[in-house]
Amino acid sequence: LWGRVKNVCKQNGLLILSVLAVVIGCLLGFFLRGKQLSEQEVKYFQFPGELLMRMLKMLILPLVVSSNMFPANLVQATFQQYRTQRVPELIPKPTVVQVLDETTTRRVYIYGIQDDNGTDIQNFSLDLTPPPDVIMKTSPGTSEGMNVLGIVIFSATMGIMLGRMGPNGSALVNFCQSLNEAVLKIVAIVIWYFPFGIVFLVAGKILEMDDPSAMGKKLGFYAITVVMGLVLHGLFILPAMYFFITKKSPIVYIRGILQALLISLATSSSSATLPITFKCLLENNHIDRRIIRFVLPVGATINMDGTALYEAVAAIFIAQVNNYELDFGQIITISITATAASIGAAGIPQAGLVTMVIVLTSVGLPTDDITLIIAVDWALDRFRTMVNVMGDALATGIMAHICRKDFIKEGEQLPLICETK
Ligand code: ASP
Repeated sequence: LWGRVKNVCKQNGLLILSVLAVVIGCLLGFFLRGKQLSEQEVKYFQFPGELLMRMLKMLILPLVVSSNMFPANLVQATFQQYRTQRVPELIPKPTVVQVLDETTTRRVYIYGIQDDNGTDIQNFSLDLTPPPDVIMKTSPGTSEGMNVLGIVIFSATMGIMLGRMGPNGSALVNFCQSLNEAVLKIVAIVIWYFPFGIVFLVAGKILEMDDPSAMGKKLGFYAITVVMGLVLHGLFILPAMYFFITKKSPIVYIRGILQALLISLATSSSSATLPITFKCLLENNHIDRRIIRFVLPVGATINMDGTALYEAVAAIFIAQVNNYELDFGQIITISITATAASIGAAGIPQAGLVTMVIVLTSVGLPTDDITLIIAVDWALDRFRTMVNVMGDALATGIMAHICRKDFIKEGEQLPLICETK
């Protein structure tokens, strides 16, 4: 048994340390609350946690830029070739063909389309990327939502332009590829600072929060309702969707992203968690890098299941506090605007609280009453961010499953379509 325990600890060392860090952070925070620290002392105490947040934020920009410029470039390069070949109205789906490499006399697979005569193979690229219309359909979103999404769109546009430039753009494309790999290497180092940073991040937040005893009974029920909704959505609905589409175990998948979930709990920010989710999906869940680098940043910005759920519950709570009877139409309005507001919310701490204004105004509720829920929001934010991150990660898995046939895996045996010498 001892051997097994040692093995588990060795394999999940970082994860165990992170869980311990959350627990220690809570205990330390509540212990120090009794010590009446001065504002200055609290600020110093929060420093290691703040450092963690900054390290994570530092990685987002290079990760998202390099992730998106590179694949967009390939999409453009491929389509450029389609156009110059003047393929008639219907673009044939490129096929994989096996050819003989004359210099090495080895068979190699190339990705391409056949011309009208069916003999010559037009070689395109070994790398396939999500189709560009996915990029085009991504609207820039609203104010706070612009950040990461704006960067994704800008980088994708840059990538397309680089593709058009042909060989002249290759220096920057290679740069992006190296940058992407370097960022992941930095994540691998920075990740060891996490447990330490988490202790201070959690404790620092507890030191800052309002007196929990002042939290009324009603507010308690509201918090429990939100948490129950999040548990139901995160532990049952999302995994069930993943299972029905992919027919794979959601438990194994979620185990692979535990580290990212913990970081989201500690940071309350799906954007800050992005580098870790990226690493978990790549290394633990073995999702194709090309899918992760597009789906994940977009998901972290616009796909926020947890936030949408919380905003709807919060609006209904505020209506009840004001003895305001909501009719069926208004409840539907709340669910639609809560989804829209969650898309507009940035992946940063308590952004959902700000976009709540949209939901409240849509049904004529007083926006000032947002102050009623501020006292518990710091805690609820952590749980909804966890669900947001889980939603993005599972969606990436589902996308990888849907696109699995369009991607060539290294070393994969492919059907022989035609052979040339
Ligand atoms: N903190 C959340 C996130 O980063 C957004 C929110 O406030 O709901 O995903």
